[in-house]
Amino acid sequence: MPKSHVLRFNPSKFQENILGWYHQNQRVLPWRVVGRGKTDPYKVWMSEIMLQQTTVPAVIPYFLKFIEQWPTVVDLANADDADVMAAWAGLGYYARARNLLKCARVVARELNGKFPKDLDGLLELPGVGPYTAAAIMAIAYGQPATVVDGNIERITSRIFAIEEAYPEGKKIVHQNAHRLFDKIDAWEQQDIKAYPQALMDIGAGICTPKNPSCGLCPVQRFCKAFAEGQAEAYPVKAAKKAVPIRHGDVYWITDGQGNIIVEKRPDNRMLGGMVGLPTSDWDINKGKRSENRLNLQEILQSPLKIGKIYHVFTHFRLELAVWVVTMPDLKKLVKCSPDLMIINTHVVELNKIGLPTLFLKAARLAHKNV
Ligand code: SF4
Repeated sequence: MPKSHVLRFNPSKFQENILGWYHQNQRVLPWRVVGRGKTDPYKVWMSEIMLQQTTVPAVIPYFLKFIEQWPTVVDLANADDADVMAAWAGLGYYARARNLLKCARVVARELNGKFPKDLDGLLELPGVGPYTAAAIMAIAYGQPATVVDGNIERITSRIFAIEEAYPEGKKIVHQNAHRLFDKIDAWEQQDIKAYPQALMDIGAGICTPKNPSCGLCPVQRFCKAFAEGQAEAYPVKAAKKAVPIRHGDVYWITDGQGNIIVEKRPDNRMLGGMVGLPTSDWDINKGKRSENRLNLQEILQSPLKIGKIYHVFTHFRLELAVWVVTMPDLKKLVKCSPDLMIINTHVVELNKIGLPTLFLKAARLAHKNV
């Protein structure tokens, strides 16, 4: 593609184009306030925590469910842990759900139900990092803050054609992102609230990771990556490292009458605090099986291997062998650990108790084979 002319970056023109586009094209989202309505920091905080590592379409039904069930931060603070974890099931990255609860309890019980209105105060809340704190400051309170989510990172790296490869390049992209927010402290609160959301919408709908729609972009004339004819090449990523694979076992332990064993997973492990099927440890090396976490030797007398399931976490792929064990007296096993419980699959739908996707895969395989 031939190189085209690019204008020198002019923050006020850039910002004017972004806001002009937003007033015509903004997405309607359940946590957003249109026009001059009052923004609820609880909803902004909830949506930003949910949106970390996840897409808007995936978050919307969860957000609506949470707000209906727990309309205020005090309601959420008073919820049972198990109910919140179950409502979160399927959204992934479960540490966020645990921090959501911790944070709600701090705000409700120590801060009189009010989110702090300053960056330092927000940063002290559990699970609130620099990005979320900046997003709350700008979107909820209309206070100037540089908000840099994945979409805004991508736009920044393309506008300035930042050549340093990630992960090191990320720091340089963040430094340059400040240029997009230049002098916004002089703006009206409504515009400060709108601006990061406008950038996010452009990142989600126009400046997409693949096949960006540069022809529709309101800031194309400032974009160096577009002028170079290689928008998709930014952000520059270093070659990917191989993802490690971990192995382990997961057990479908049944009495043959529809009752099965589930466990509450320890807080300090992956999927901590969630209800799951019992598993072994997840080893890194294939063939090297570790001790059972839950002293389940007794049930290993006649396990039947019915297949494997696979699941991808951020830093590793997991391969679990699925074993079916039939034992008439499940109560005997439950006595081995306070974290084990019996549920009846005729009475309780597994996806209603908040079984994470990993275990639903194992349950589906067991249903087909038992
Ligand atoms: Fe992104 Fe293309 Fe707009 Fe540049 S011109 S910011 S690459 S959509």
